Amino acid sequence: MSESNVIVSNEPWKKPLPNIDKDNEDFYEGLKKHKFLVWRCKTCGASYWPKAYCINHENESFAANMEWAESSGRGKIFAFNRHHMAFHPGFKDEIPYVYALIELDEGPLVSSTLLGSKLPKDVYDVGQKVEVVYEDHPAEGFTLPRFRIVD
Ligand SMILES: [Zn+2]
Repeated sequence: MSESNVIVSNEPWKKPLPNIDKDNEDFYEGLKKHKFLVWRCKTCGASYWPKAYCINHENESFAANMEWAESSGRGKIFAFNRHHMAFHPGFKDEIPYVYALIELDEGPLVSSTLLGSKLPKDVYDVGQKVEVVYEDHPAEGFTLPRFRIVD
């Protein structure tokens, strides 16, 4: 993945902070290294995000059967919503913004806001291919995943 998939934001962070806990701290560490990690079943290779038991191997011990694996960071728009109102004051400078559910190529659904000049407009844009963009926030010490439409 090219460095153009990384943007650095020096704007002071005004939105809710990411909820980092023991179940997702490795995911956020991966984002800082510009890797989008998902949970993978060692037995069948199925991918999950957030943390989940494999539906095919739910009797296996989680720790023995599931591991973090790097995803492609690519997927397609599964659903989206254009927001014209800010539900948190930190979003008000970005209105309207597009909140999307992304189906990763590996299977899991993740939600994020979209960026870039090309944004989905109507139902025909469902299924558009997207890729992750890593938004580094050096002052706050975290990286967030966002997505943009690829041609
Ligand atoms: Zn499995």
